[in-house]
Order: sequence, then structure tokens, then C-alpha cells
Amino acid sequence: MHDILPQDIALWQRLEHAAATVFSSYGYREIRMPILEKTEVFTRAIGVATDVVEKEMYSFLDRNEESLSLRPEGTAGVVRAALQNRLLYGHPVRLWYSGPMFRYERPQKGRTRQFHQLGAELFGAPGPDVDAELIRMGERIWSELGLEGIRLELNSLGTASERAAYREQLVAFLSRHADALDGPTRERLERNPLRVLDSKDPDVQLLLDQAPKLMDVLGEDSRRHFDGVCELLTGLGVAFVINHKLVRGLDYYCHTVFEWITEDLGAQGTICAGGRYDGLIEQQGGKPWPGIGFAMGEERLVELLRLKDNVGPAHPHAYVVMLGSGSKLAGLQMAERLRDKLPGLRVLSHAGGGNFRAQFKRADKSGAALALVIGENELENGTVVVKRLREDLPQETVSLTVLVDWLRDWMTDGP
Ligand code: ATP
Ligand code: MG
Repeated sequence: MHDILPQDIALWQRLEHAAATVFSSYGYREIRMPILEKTEVFTRAIGVATDVVEKEMYSFLDRNEESLSLRPEGTAGVVRAALQNRLLYGHPVRLWYSGPMFRYERPQKGRTRQFHQLGAELFGAPGPDVDAELIRMGERIWSELGLEGIRLELNSLGTASERAAYREQLVAFLSRHADALDGPTRERLERNPLRVLDSKDPDVQLLLDQAPKLMDVLGEDSRRHFDGVCELLTGLGVAFVINHKLVRGLDYYCHTVFEWITEDLGAQGTICAGGRYDGLIEQQGGKPWPGIGFAMGEERLVELLRLKDNVGPAHPHAYVVMLGSGSKLAGLQMAERLRDKLPGLRVLSHAGGGNFRAQFKRADKSGAALALVIGENELENGTVVVKRLREDLPQETVSLTVLVDWLRDWMTDGP
């Protein structure tokens, strides 16, 4: 679990601002859920035989002996909240959320135990139109952020019964080749055979190229849904590749599943993943109601933004140097006035005392572009001395009555 430090905050804010803007332009409204839920909210939704529930949840008994868990993902909680607050069962509902998620994973690059997701969910429309729109919305976030070269992979998981039929075919095929499977793969074969498609083992992957394909067992309706998504995406200008082995790690998905992947982050290159979950709401105790959504990993997107352009920290524009008796109040008052009159101006006031040299040293270290100096003379004359700290220009004495205008011109000309 990492601290997010001040020098990185600008990137986080840029990401969150871009996502919020795009979400709202598609009619999505923000929802905020608690970080803790009853454990069953997750076990029911995500499935007991998944990595998340089997190995990754932070679960504990509270003082009332009730099992609670830190949320490992957002969708289960959004569904719980939507049901409980009666947001469903009318027109389609579009919601988005952001915040920390927790999974007990093996920490590595791009994989931490507390991480952050931004996610979107749409309830009440069976698709495929909204599937395509939701995917296009993700792409718009990448372009809003100036990120390029992010690949979209797409697959269909069909219905639960189609998946069950496919599971049998896959198990039969893999059992015939059991000698070629490593230990973890054999275990997955037992517990959650579809997850074998996800195997990172190159030999298993080679074998899987000959395995039956889920796409080939889909019924007519599922086929039509998937073809519809592909056609609409093409019509909207969204490029994609079909990946027959894309199954996703959570049990609640059906039909459309997708991932957005970058090659710029090494092994953990999936920055966003999602899919349709038409059975989830019923599983969580509601009447059947379709849903689809995605979640993006904020840490990975922030890393991409960092690689793209080295955004530095936001230095102060002006550092207020206060010398001699009475200058403290005058300096603080001046700083307040500047903040009132010039929104966006970053003013840092010197804290504590110190002589001229000491205060200038701190002004320089702060990265500020200007020093605004108030000494006894200035106090008496109602002026301030403006010194450019990053340029070799003579200092100027500016009357307090025109300081706001002076600074406004300076900001317009580019500090
Ligand atoms: P993987 O198979 O890589 O573990 P996942 O299927 O568990 O991925 P999702 O549950 O779909 O991942 O989460 C959506 C996105 O959230 C991921 O694509 C990734 O960007 C991000 N994410 C998931 N787990 C972590 C983590 N432990 N640390 C950082 N980001 C994560
Ligand atoms: Mg995972």
C-alpha cells in the first residue's frame, strides 16, 4: 500500500478530472459507496472459486461477529447500493464511482494491495448499443488524456448455460492433454476451468490454440449480440481485436467482455477491464435486470501519464518576504487580497522570522517565480518590492494600489 505524494497529485487530479468530465458528458452520475461491505456482498457477486474471493480479500469479524470485507472492486457495492436505494427498474441508469480497492496480492510493478479504480456501470439496457457506447466512452477518456496506442481486446462469454456447455468441452480437451499442464493449471482445471484460458504459462498457451473456442458454442442470440457490438464499434470508429481467450477473473460476467491494454507498462498492461453482467442483480437479491460496466486502474494510468509528459509540481507564483516589525500583518493581508482578486494565483507566505538572506533562501527553494518583499520602508510608503527569482531583471517597486494589476499583466504575459 503506497502513499500518494504531493509531487504526484497533479497527475491523479488530471486523470480524475478527465474521467469525471467524460462520464458526465455521457450522462453518468457519481455514486460513493462505503469502503466496507458485508463479506457476502462480494462472495455472492464475484464467486467463491475466484482468485479475488479465495485469496485476495481483506475480511474480518467485527465486534458483532459479522464478517466484513474491505472492497476488492466496485461493481458489487454499486449493485448493492442501487438495489437498497431503489435506483433500478425504470429507465436505464448510468453511474460512476472512484476510490480505493483492496486485494491481498503479491505486490509487484503495477500491482499493489491498495489501489484505486475509476469505474462506470449502466443498468437496465440489454445492449448491444450500450455495450458499444460504454466502450467508446473509455476510449474518449484515453484521448482526453492524450494517451495513445491503447489496444482494445474483445470477446463474448455468452450465457451461463453456453458457458457450462463450453466448460465441459474445455475440460474434456484439457484432460486429454493433462501431461502438458503445470500444477497451478491443473488446479484451475479442477476449480474454475475457464480460468485456464488466462494461464501465463507459454506451453499451456500453445496448447490452448488448439482448444475448442467459446465463440463456436455460442447460440444464435449470443452470436447476434456479439456481432452487434462489433458492428457498432466499427461504425463508431473504435478499433478492436477479438481475443478468444479473454475470460476475465470474476464470475459475474456474460456476453461482452473487454480489456484495454498498453504495451508501455510491462507485464501489468491492462489499464481497464469490464463486461456485461446480466445475472448479477438477481444474484444480489433483486429482480433480473441487465448491467454492464468497466473499471480502470488509476495507478497504471497515472504511470502512463508520467511516462508521456513529465509534469512538474505546481510551484508558487509568488513568495511573500516580510521584514521588520509590523510587516507580518501587512504581508498576510496583502497575500489574502491577492488570493481574493486573482483566482488561481499561488501565493506562499514566509513562515516564522529570519533575516533577509534566510527568507530569500527559502523563497528560492520554494520554486516561486517572484518574491514580494515588504520591509519597513515599503510599509511606510504603501509599496512592495517585486523581485524576479528566475530571471535576471532589475527589481521593481510597485504601489500596493496597482499590485493586483501588475500581477494580472505578469500572469497574462506568462510568468
Ligand atoms: P489481473 O488478472 O491482472 O489480476 P483483474 O482481472 O484482477 O486483473 P480487475 O478486477 O478487472 O483486474 O480490475 C480492473 C483494473 O484494475 C485492472 O485492469 C487493473 O488496471 C486494476 N487493478 C486490478 N488489481 C490491481 C492491483 N492489485 N493493483 C493495481 N491495479 C489493479
Ligand atoms: Mg487480479
